[in-house]
Amino acid sequence: MFRLIDTHAHLEEIGALKKVIEEARLSGVIAIIAVGSDYKSNQQVLQIAEEHEGFVYPALGLHPSRIEKAELDRTLEFIEAKIDRAVCIGEIGLDYHKKIRTLADKDLQQSVFRETLGIAVKYHKPVSVHSRYAWRDAFTLVTEAGIEEAVFHWYTGTSSVLREIIDRGYFLSATPAVEYHEEHRRVIKETPLEQLLLETDSPVVYGQGRESAFESRPADIYRSLRGVAVKKGMDETEVAEITTANAERLFRLRIYTE
Ligand SMILES: [Zn+2]
Repeated sequence: MFRLIDTHAHLEEIGALKKVIEEARLSGVIAIIAVGSDYKSNQQVLQIAEEHEGFVYPALGLHPSRIEKAELDRTLEFIEAKIDRAVCIGEIGLDYHKKIRTLADKDLQQSVFRETLGIAVKYHKPVSVHSRYAWRDAFTLVTEAGIEEAVFHWYTGTSSVLREIIDRGYFLSATPAVEYHEEHRRVIKETPLEQLLLETDSPVVYGQGRESAFESRPADIYRSLRGVAVKKGMDETEVAEITTANAERLFRLRIYTE
């Protein structure tokens, strides 16, 4: 069986979690990075990680779509107060989709992103970055902050920014969208395996509007694995070993499995 790590999942948004986690274990998942998005979800993520110690590892973040002015300080203070328990700062980043920009404009998003990046630098934590339609700015802010370890999660941006992400030694992560999404497939092809991670971004629905659409769970990490292996023309076993080793190194995990 494969040893796989789901490096980005929103577990607090998934019902019947005990069963879902058991299914993930049976599918070869050995760890899940549970990312937080706002004040409440950060609390839930810590709680879930406690209940599944040694399997679920918490990341604390503030997603650009969840910026609530009234909660800003409280959320940032919470992240810093609980920093010792977090393996990563995430999900953080920028999202220039029109719908998101009406909730929080570019300036506000950037200032919040800088704050969270500052916490990561201060406590030497890697970051999990959301960069939809904001690829160039997200990359610039990450480098300007002096971040050394980052994953640009589910990246679908331009090749020129991708090249710079790779040259900087940052990671990119593959979701099940590698099965059908052209931009994402190109990214997976162009990124060296040594800089790739696997994830599901559960419970995201993949293939919206298609007959094959499905709401993802961490057990679907196999679809990310298979998609990467096909795209790279490599053996699934080799892709699993290398991407898992990458994740263990980035998040400093020590996982013991039989
Ligand atoms: Zn996410």
